[in-house]
Formats: sequence, C-alpha cells, structure tokens
Amino acid sequence: MTNKYKYFVANWKMFGNKKSINLINKVIKFSKLSKFRKAKIVYCPPYTILGDFIKKLKNTNIKVGAQNCHFIDGDGPYTGFISAKMLKKIGCDYTIIGHSEQRYFGDTDEKINKKILLATKNNLNVFFCVGEKLNEKRKNLTSKVLKNQLLKGLKKVKKLNKLIIAYEPVWSIGSGKIPSNAELSKNIMILRSILKKIKKNFKFKILYGGSVNEKNIELLNKIKNIDGFLIGGSSQKSNKFIDIIKKTYN
Ligand code: PEP
Repeated sequence: MTNKYKYFVANWKMFGNKKSINLINKVIKFSKLSKFRKAKIVYCPPYTILGDFIKKLKNTNIKVGAQNCHFIDGDGPYTGFISAKMLKKIGCDYTIIGHSEQRYFGDTDEKINKKILLATKNNLNVFFCVGEKLNEKRKNLTSKVLKNQLLKGLKKVKKLNKLIIAYEPVWSIGSGKIPSNAELSKNIMILRSILKKIKKNFKFKILYGGSVNEKNIELLNKIKNIDGFLIGGSSQKSNKFIDIIKKTYN
C-alpha cells in the first residue's frame, strides 16, 4: 500500500494495431477514479499507432511516450528513424531510451547518451533503462554494469528533471522471474548511491521493470524506494494493468 505518486509505464513493444487501442477504454475510465489519482500512467505504443494514442488520450490524465528515438535530431536522410523533435511535435511527452531490447540490436552507451541529450533538449521526459544481464549478475558484476551504464548514458546531461531511471534486470524482462526483495532493494540503493556521486544533489525517480504482473505487484510494492513500474506484457491486457495499479494503492 502506498499514497505516493507512482509511474505505471505501459510498454507495448512491437504489439498493437488500431483496433487494440479500444482496449484502453477501461484504463481511461479507471484513471478518472479519485482513489487512484496518484497513479501516473504513460502508454508507450509502437510508432504506427502513436498518433492514435495521442488523439485518444488528449483530454485525459494519461500521457503518451515513444519506445525510442534516433541519436540524430531534426529531419534528415535517415531512413527508418524517428527523431526526438518529431516525437515532441506530434505530442509525445515521454520516450523510453536504452531498453535492453534496443541495446541487444545495437544501442551502445554512447548512442544512448546522444539520444538522452536530444530527447531532453526537445523537452521529452526520458525513461532511461539500465540493468544487468544474467551472466553479469552471476559474476557479481551488477554494480559495475550499472555504474558504467549510468556514467556513460548521463554524460553531459543537464536537464535532470526530465529523467526517470528504469532499473530493468535483463534476465527478468519477459521471463516471469523477478529479483528477490532483498536483491532489488540492494540494487536500487546501489543505483541511488551511484547517481548521488555523478549528479550530486538531484533526487532521481527510479522505476522497476521486469515481469511485473498482478500476482507479484504486492511483493514488489513492499520495496519503499521505488517510484513506479515499467510494464511490458501485463500492460497489454487492461484488466491486468488496472489490477497492478489497484493493488499498489489498496
Ligand atoms: C519491458 O518491456 O521493459 C518489460 C519489463 O517487459 P515485461 O514486463 O514483459 O517483462
């Protein structure tokens, strides 16, 4: 149970079409209930239906974000890419950057840093994803990996109020496995202490992401210093997504 403002970020990944937008009607209705007004809901659908989401959610308190942006800004001869400027212009408020599924296909810390700089320059809020892989966890490298990702990703980033860190252990994403509360609390503390060293006095928001569902949310919610959740699979079913939010506040 909590009475804090918390993020519930729905990452729809490469799923969804115009028809599936109607699935969120229930969530829109739910978001109007005063009991859950502290839930900050953000939908991150694929680019193909981003405009439809923006239109549909215009007069609600639910925000819309993209799942990525290019590391070059503005317009230009970059086939297949979308810039932060373009995202802002169509009405996005947020974007995810550094998701492990993007890192897997070639996003380096350097590219991620450029993307964060451009997204924040264009006044987008950024969910900056960091997290260790299973082999790194096994070798006790988690702290080193997180430090490296944060140091490189946040280089020269000044607009800190636009940043929200999403701690997503790669081994947990889509696997149904979550860290133990002790492990998760420890890693959030590690992130906070690294962040304190690199960006002195700023109090960052930190979300957890990785197989969050309506069954494990009560357990995850026991961890005090988490500011919300980045939710993939379970955000695509409105009933599950609503259940997660309800259980956070009940
Ligand atoms: C994600 O997409 O970042 C994610 C955490 O996915 P899932 O909830 O499906 O593990």
